Amino acid sequence: MEKKFGLAIHGGAGTIKKSTMTSFDETKYITELNHAIIKGYTILKGGGSALDAVEYAVRILEDCPLFNAGKGSVFTHEGTHEMDASIMCGDTLNAGAVAAVKGIRNPVQLARKVMEESGYVLLCGSGAERFGKSAALPFENEKYFFTDNRFNQWQALKNSEHAVLDHDGGKKFGTVGAVALDQNGNVAAATSTGGLTNKKFGRLGDSVVIGAGNYANNKTCAVSCTGYGEYFIRSVVAYDISCLMEYGGLSLKDACARVIDKLTDFGGEGGFIAIDKLGNIELLFNTEGMYRGYASSDKSSGIQVDIYRNKNQDSTPS
Ligand code: ASP
Repeated sequence: MEKKFGLAIHGGAGTIKKSTMTSFDETKYITELNHAIIKGYTILKGGGSALDAVEYAVRILEDCPLFNAGKGSVFTHEGTHEMDASIMCGDTLNAGAVAAVKGIRNPVQLARKVMEESGYVLLCGSGAERFGKSAALPFENEKYFFTDNRFNQWQALKNSEHAVLDHDGGKKFGTVGAVALDQNGNVAAATSTGGLTNKKFGRLGDSVVIGAGNYANNKTCAVSCTGYGEYFIRSVVAYDISCLMEYGGLSLKDACARVIDKLTDFGGEGGFIAIDKLGNIELLFNTEGMYRGYASSDKSSGIQVDIYRNKNQDSTPS
């Protein structure tokens, strides 16, 4: 008999308003989110692992120029693209991450290689790139990562001291992520980002910090975050949710509600997606919108995708 499984994804949170979004753009985002969910869900439905589901769902979003990860990554102060990604397996608590890597087509794929083949957890910069090349992963030239939108965002900032979150008529955090539960009861999480526009000095965000922007543990849940990384690191957001469940006995829903409130009080903006070992899913954010969606074997509702804040879709009905 088919067991419970499910997957949730995000493509960043922030000032995303229906009033400023064209229906053309809205359709493009919804199509890509659906594409990523279908990819991950098909893997899970076929009995594949949560790790494969999150990696492949994130790879779809990395290949799409709309999101601040992989191809659509923002520009650094120097006019380059430095990407961060991480992945974690809730069964083994193994994790892999790459920080400030250039040229790699799918940073999440490299993070998984780090987890499975390097003997380390976190590799950075040119060393991580050398490792990726030795594993024969696909690399692209700078042109591949050039998008007009990101270039214009950088042009507006490059002579200033500011490093800002991916924006589009306001603050928007375009990091991507996925969490999944497979039919064997294993959870996994993956997160990938280009970080902040105009960032410098090798700045890293929460996406690469296990426990901050990404975490998975079969005892509790899998979490992927998006938002102002400095706040997520200092609040250890993803692990905090897991801890509230493991040590405090809270449900996923209560743990997520507690942590989003804490983050808001702390001044952090953004959101996260989470799935627990029972297949419950939460998608919470304190911004105006978050690109998000999920599919679950539990629900007859099919794939759910949403962008804006509304009363009913911050979490799935339990
Ligand atoms: N959390 C990411 C960072 O701080 C940014 C984002 O979510 O868009 O690097």
